Amino acid sequence: MTIKIDLHTHSNESDGTDRPGELVEAAIKAGITHLALTDHDSVAGWSDAIAHQDTSITLLLGAEVSCQTKEALSVHMLGLLFDPENAALRHAMDQTRSNRVTRMERIVGRLQEAGMEITIEDVYAQLREGATLGRPHLADAMVKRGIVKDRSEAFDKFLHNRSKYYIPDASPTPEESIRLIKDAGGVAIIAHPFASLRGRIISPEYLESLVEVGLDGIEIDHRDHNEGEREALRELTRRFGLIFSGGSDYHGTGKENRLAENTTDIAQFERIVARATGFSPVGG
Ligand code: AMP
Ligand code: ZN
Ligand code: FE
Ligand code: FE
Repeated sequence: MTIKIDLHTHSNESDGTDRPGELVEAAIKAGITHLALTDHDSVAGWSDAIAHQDTSITLLLGAEVSCQTKEALSVHMLGLLFDPENAALRHAMDQTRSNRVTRMERIVGRLQEAGMEITIEDVYAQLREGATLGRPHLADAMVKRGIVKDRSEAFDKFLHNRSKYYIPDASPTPEESIRLIKDAGGVAIIAHPFASLRGRIISPEYLESLVEVGLDGIEIDHRDHNEGEREALRELTRRFGLIFSGGSDYHGTGKENRLAENTTDIAQFERIVARATGFSPVGG
């Protein structure tokens, strides 16, 4: 059997469009043998994912934890195989999810001031109850209003990180998130750290400082990294002996990213599983 490992995916418990179970079914169809569900700041999709599992696939509990540096740079931290009952991590993710609501109200306020006909209710109408709110839901509301044709156009015109309407989400620092994930028995892998097309990125020196506070690995193979960025990251993982991963960052129909378009090597997968003490991979 060919091994296919995708460690970065989103369901509609955050800003993906598939239900968690649909995502698992799509992954099975795509021949994925190991899948991590990594919704933004949430593990709410786990039970539905597990309910749709069959014997061909191993599932990993995870989340993509939003972080913000002291310089207000947005960083995403993939947490894998942590204890989902851990109170401190749960509390931090709950807090970020509620901060995302205030942030969205402010972004919508700025758009209204600029004359856009959009309301916070339009945004909520695009969101599954209890799901983590994000800019993609605002993009969907703009599509519904006929302001843009799809999420990409909304991000290109209004919602990208350099836009005057952009506000970062109040969330823990990367150092704090690493500590929370590891204290919960999980493995902390920084997501797409050098994805310069998304906006300003962290420096190699700062990335090194995260290694000192316990960062376990780096997501290298991701569509938002060009070859030069991947090579720079490979060099860093070699230098520090870090785990390296790949993932699709699948969002259903919300993004072009296809399942398993980037994957993780089995040897790296085994390092992740060996290091985790909070939760075990399920099934397969
Ligand atoms: P937020 O969590 O509110 O900061 O929004 C970030 C999310 O927007 C990420 O999960 C991205 O996947 C998504 N995103 C960023 N750019 C685009 C784009 N051009 N099209 C669709 N989704 C995007
Ligand atoms: Zn997303
Ligand atoms: Fe991300
Ligand atoms: Fe993601």
